[in-house]
Amino acid sequence: MRALICEGTTVDSVRLSDDVELVEGPGPRQVRVEIKAAGVCGSDLSCVHGKYFMPTPLVPGHEAAGVVAEVGSAVTYCEVGDHVVLSTFGNCGHCGDCEAGDPGNCPSSMGGLRQPYAEGGRPLYNFANIGAFTQQTVVHENQCVPIPKAVPLTVAALIGCGVVTGTGAVFNRARVRPGDTVAVIGAGGVGLNVIQAARLAGASAIVAIDRVEAKEALAREFGATDFVTAGGEGFDMAKAVQSVCPGGVHHAFEVVGVPELLAGAMAMTRPGGNIAAVGVPDLSATVTYPFMALHQNKSLLGIRAGGARPRRDFPMLADLYLRGRLELDRLVSRTAGLNGLAAAFAALETGAEARTVLLPWD
Ligand SMILES: [Zn+2]
Ligand SMILES: [Zn+2]
Repeated sequence: MRALICEGTTVDSVRLSDDVELVEGPGPRQVRVEIKAAGVCGSDLSCVHGKYFMPTPLVPGHEAAGVVAEVGSAVTYCEVGDHVVLSTFGNCGHCGDCEAGDPGNCPSSMGGLRQPYAEGGRPLYNFANIGAFTQQTVVHENQCVPIPKAVPLTVAALIGCGVVTGTGAVFNRARVRPGDTVAVIGAGGVGLNVIQAARLAGASAIVAIDRVEAKEALAREFGATDFVTAGGEGFDMAKAVQSVCPGGVHHAFEVVGVPELLAGAMAMTRPGGNIAAVGVPDLSATVTYPFMALHQNKSLLGIRAGGARPRRDFPMLADLYLRGRLELDRLVSRTAGLNGLAAAFAALETGAEARTVLLPWD
C-alpha cells in the first residue's frame, strides 16, 4: 500500500512509497482501519521537523477518519463498516483516570512507540498512536469512535485533532460562559474552532488575532466579533485587545504554540481570567513570564488535545455539525492525494489556509 515516510528532520525528508505493508494485528482489542481522509496539522510539521523527537523512519499523520475494515476477536466498541474518527489517545480504558472520565490523563495516554508497518521488511514507526498518512493502519479499539455516516469523512477527519483541540479548549478546559470575553491568538485550523466554540458557548466579544490580514473574513464567519492584525512596528498585542475589551478578556487562547505569545496572552487577560495554552511548541521549550502577569487570580491552563473525552466529544461534534451548529466544511481549504503533503506544509508555514486534507486512496 501507499504511505508517506519521514526519515529526517526536514520536509524534504518525507517521501511517498508504494511498498508499505501492515505487519501488525489486529490483535484481540485492535482494529484495522482504512484511512479515507487525513488532515495536515501543525503537529505533523513539528513532528517532521524533529520537534517531538520521534524516532524514524516514521509514518506521520494523526488527524484521520476512515472505515473499519477488520476487528480483533475481543473488540466490542465498533464493527466492520463503521465510519470512525481516530483518537490520538492511547489510554487504557480501565485505570482511575479513564474511569474518572479523563482519558487524556491516563498514564498510557501518550501511547507507546509502535511499528505497525514495514517497507521492504524495514519496520516503520507511527506518529501519535496513529500514523495516518497511509491507506490502512491498526489502532486500539479505544481510538476508533464511530460517527454517523451522514458526516463526510473528509470533514470528519478534522474532528480527531483540529476541531476537538479548539472546541475542547473552550468547552472542557476554559469553560467559557455566556457573556464572557475571549481573545484567540492564531486564526488557523485550530483557532477557528476556538472561535466557533466560544460563539456556541455564548461569549460576547471574540477577538481574533493573526498576522495574516486575509484571515479576517474567515475568522468573522466563524464568529469573531473583532479582528486584530498582528505585527508592525511597536505592535502591542495586549493593548490592541484591551482597546476592544477594556480591562482585558476573561479568556485568552494561545493557539500558535510560541512561548512569547503565551506570555502576551497573560498580559491581555483580566484578573481571575484564564490563559489557555492550546498551541504546542518544540517540546523542550521553556516559558517565562513576569510574575505579576499571572498573580491576580489568573489560571494558566495546560491543554492537551482539548482535554477531550473522545467517545463523548467526537459524536457530540458530529451531531453539532449535522444540525448546522458547527462549521466544518469551510475548514477544508483543499484536498489532495498523499503527494500533496509538501504543498500542505508550505501553506501551513505561510498561514495561508485553514486545512489541507489528504485522501490516501486518490
Ligand atoms: Zn493535530
Ligand atoms: Zn487509563
